[in-house]
Amino acid sequence: MSQKRAVDRYLKRIQGPLLLADWSFCYRPDLVCSLENAAEIQIYEGHTADLAICPEFWDWPTTKQRAILVHELCHAHFDRLRAIDSLLPRHHSPEVLAVLRGVLIEAEEHAVETMARLLASRLPLPKFGK
Ligand SMILES: [Zn+2]
Repeated sequence: MSQKRAVDRYLKRIQGPLLLADWSFCYRPDLVCSLENAAEIQIYEGHTADLAICPEFWDWPTTKQRAILVHELCHAHFDRLRAIDSLLPRHHSPEVLAVLRGVLIEAEEHAVETMARLLASRLPLPKFGK
């Protein structure tokens, strides 16, 4: 089984238990992702999202792979927060808006990582080939 097929199948398997059954997640091997981020999710309208994974991912233990994928999927629960960006007062300077966006991003990352740490161990481990 190809890595893409194995990842897509795993995402489908865990999205229900993560209460994301109405989402469509797609691993995109053609998208570049750095080791610094491990994986990145790009969320679109209509509960769809693409996932990029760094090349080193395949060498990591399955517990770490699972933690990373659960983390990325948990970002979908914060999709509605993106609407806040359009509501930020435009009379603020670009610097102030950047600080506000930074606070939102950091708060989301903290909440997502907390959720992922709580939930990952309850989900099956992936079995990906190298
Ligand atoms: Zn994240």
